[in-house]
Amino acid sequence: MKPLVWLVLGLLWPFALARADGLPDLGELERSGLSHTAERRLGQQIMLEIRRDPAYLDDAEIAAYIDQVGQRLAARAEGARQPFEFFVVRDSMLNAFALPGGYVGVHSGLVLAARSESELAGVLAHEISHVTQSHLARRFGKQSESQMVSLLSLAVAVLAARSSPDVAVGAALAGQAAGVQQQINYSRDFEREADRLGLDLMEKGGYDTRGMASFFERMLQFGRIYENNAPGYLRTHPMTTERITDMENRIAQRPYKQVADSVEFGLVRAKLRATDGTPGDALADFAAQLKSGKYARETDVRFGHAHALMRNNRLTEAEAELAALRRLNLESPLLENLAAQLRLKRKDVAGAVQTLALAAQRYPQARALTYALIDAKVGAGETAEALTLIKRELQLTPGDARLHALEAKTYAAQGKRLQQHRSQGEAYLAEGQLDEAILQYELARRAGDGDFYESSQVDARLQELKQRKFEEMRRNQR
Ligand SMILES: [Zn+2]
Repeated sequence: MKPLVWLVLGLLWPFALARADGLPDLGELERSGLSHTAERRLGQQIMLEIRRDPAYLDDAEIAAYIDQVGQRLAARAEGARQPFEFFVVRDSMLNAFALPGGYVGVHSGLVLAARSESELAGVLAHEISHVTQSHLARRFGKQSESQMVSLLSLAVAVLAARSSPDVAVGAALAGQAAGVQQQINYSRDFEREADRLGLDLMEKGGYDTRGMASFFERMLQFGRIYENNAPGYLRTHPMTTERITDMENRIAQRPYKQVADSVEFGLVRAKLRATDGTPGDALADFAAQLKSGKYARETDVRFGHAHALMRNNRLTEAEAELAALRRLNLESPLLENLAAQLRLKRKDVAGAVQTLALAAQRYPQARALTYALIDAKVGAGETAEALTLIKRELQLTPGDARLHALEAKTYAAQGKRLQQHRSQGEAYLAEGQLDEAILQYELARRAGDGDFYESSQVDARLQELKQRKFEEMRRNQR
């Protein structure tokens, strides 16, 4: 059942293309139903389900990397009316999809299949362009939200069925999903537009535009060889040789540009592989690569090997690999984080704090290091310092759910229950989980360990959230 939900979610968007031969113009779009806020709201609802799914990759380093590539492209997009969020789903199927409201998901299989950073950027740039061109809204136009909601509930039902042992339910939903797929009538215009604008984004973002054509062409070849097993991406974004030729012609008109991959591209892929499958298989995979000597960059393979060793609790060998990486002059926040994680495995919490504190100074942009530093400080009993750090970071990024969750963890370590539930409530709120947030604030209210000032703050916030819930319900009834 596992790939099915992603198939369905991937379909949300091509389904949106059905019967979209004559595109409504933008003036018409504005008069039609699906508003921008409605799109964002729908996207948020789907993201709630995705974040709960075990396949959602909740790794701060990997998430930060994919977001960095995505934002570099999205920042260059004209007509981007909303913030974008990029995330990775652990799934070997080659796929990527844009959800309503600027959420772009990429399967780990696709990240691993990309041979260069520009290839990965090509897929993201294409997805971003579907979003900025409002292809979704242009299809749905007057049908407004109701049709999308029914698709959304199907996707959610399939998600629920995955964790249910009832095969019959799963089969029935699979049938429904197939029905959805049959309604697909792809729009070549949308695909071509996303290709064209995507290439512009790649060029402006400083990527090698040839990456898009080479990656799409390889997927097309792959689809020809394994007809029933064509990459999921091709099912949702139909590929033709004509499209590839079109792309190649456009690329030929642009100045040739050789672009080197970032260090993180190789390291993130190595980490993805090292944390995939069984610990034993991951380790065997890297050991075989090292033995064969067939690899593009030694540091990537050794980094993956070190992670796989750590995963198998073979710490001495992992530490030796870390030393080898230092000798090879690898410099990256990911390496410092690995060094700290190894220290934590050795129960050397003070050493981990020290490593992370230095690294966070050296790489102030690397958020994963900050999270790890806060976590290590809590482990070392330095909760007051952890809170200072969290408050400082929250001033920069108030909507960071991970920081709020770390704050809750820190208060829990201090035994402050009101504050713990309050922070946990803010963490849920940052992810759009209003019901869970209200529940936490109710727990905070009953905690009974806050002073008058704190208690009235909790009361006020709880009232505000309940009012928000009321307005949401009223909106849904309309
Ligand atoms: Zn497409």
